[in-house]
Amino acid sequence: MSGHDRRNRPQGLSTRAIHLGYDPADHEGALTPPIFMTSTFAFETAEAGAEMFRGERAGYIYGRTKNPTQTILEERMASLEGGEAAMATASGMGAISSVMLSLLNPGDEALIDHTVYGNTFAYFTQALTRFGIVVKLADFTRPETVAEQIGEKTKVVFFETPANPNLRVIDIAGIAHIAAKVGALVVVDNTFATPVLQRPLELGADVVIHSGTKYLGGHGDLLSGIVVGTADIVKQARQTGLRWMTGATLSPFNCFLLLRGLKTLEIRLERHSASGLAVARMLEKHPKIATISYPGLATFPQHDLAKRQMSAFGGLIAFELDGGIDMSMALMNRLKLVTRAVSLGDTETLIQHPASMTHAIYGAEERARHGISDGLLRLSVGLENVDDILDDLEQALDAL
Ligand SMILES: *Cc1c(COP(=O)(O)O)cnc(C)c1O
Repeated sequence: MSGHDRRNRPQGLSTRAIHLGYDPADHEGALTPPIFMTSTFAFETAEAGAEMFRGERAGYIYGRTKNPTQTILEERMASLEGGEAAMATASGMGAISSVMLSLLNPGDEALIDHTVYGNTFAYFTQALTRFGIVVKLADFTRPETVAEQIGEKTKVVFFETPANPNLRVIDIAGIAHIAAKVGALVVVDNTFATPVLQRPLELGADVVIHSGTKYLGGHGDLLSGIVVGTADIVKQARQTGLRWMTGATLSPFNCFLLLRGLKTLEIRLERHSASGLAVARMLEKHPKIATISYPGLATFPQHDLAKRQMSAFGGLIAFELDGGIDMSMALMNRLKLVTRAVSLGDTETLIQHPASMTHAIYGAEERARHGISDGLLRLSVGLENVDDILDDLEQALDAL
């Protein structure tokens, strides 16, 4: 690349994650964005306040809908995902509910993949349905079943890829193509991949959702959510969803923590992905492992699709032992470094048992149908030295 080309190309992802939307010169030279710990904002004049309420003047009014620390975070996330606008929320569930409550009306249909985070599954099948919204399920790894279930009433199509907890990978461009025929909006939960590994909007999705609690924050010390999409959709989600219906605003302090997490997102995902692959390769060869799902393994059923749509494969692995649920529990209890905990994407390596924990809300029969076996374990490979992670897993497996 010549010097001229280098100067004209867009800034890289880490550079934007560190600098975009903030100039120290505007804030007494402070290198790090200040935390605007205020609930409300003073109007210069009574008329200025009224103009802001009428949308005729830019500015901050009240912390439920907008705060300057939050604005920096939102501009950065919009840029990282390649969207026009973003909205920060108090949790991933706050992001999903703020979007769905602003997009869906009674009588509308939402079509969702049958493998999603347990509380997302409950939100669609047990909560939204109380308000006259029809929720249909399909196996999104088979686009023909999506084409069969989708119709004129389908307003929203929702899925995760890779999906929680079993890492199924869904063809974002393929689903977006089917949804476009009926004008349904495609909402993708990009929590497992993050914009470092996968950018759904570039593949035809309309909205990206994150649980920022996971990789974006990355340190297991906050809950948060993010919505990215067109300016229109995000404005609607903020006005109707966040302002009136959920009130799920992210506190300025947590915006600051999330901004801090974003600065290292790319280098963390590089390490998570390298260690994830090393751990997956060790597990795949171990005689006590019955099945393993990691999109980066050549034996993964959708490995080719994963390679097309992701730049690397992250730190999440799902696996089963050859001794069912009892052996899974025994393995968890023998681990010394790997921590028994739900959540994921943290610096610490975490292990959990979906059937009794994150996906307990699914019925046993539903779980079986959705590929979440009773013995399945979900491992989130952290940032410790990979040899220590491998040693701990091997000592626990060998002792079984
Ligand atoms: C954790 C999680 C959520 C929910 O996010 P919270 O921040 O816990 O509310 C949504 N989707 C996925 C894929 C998740 O892992």
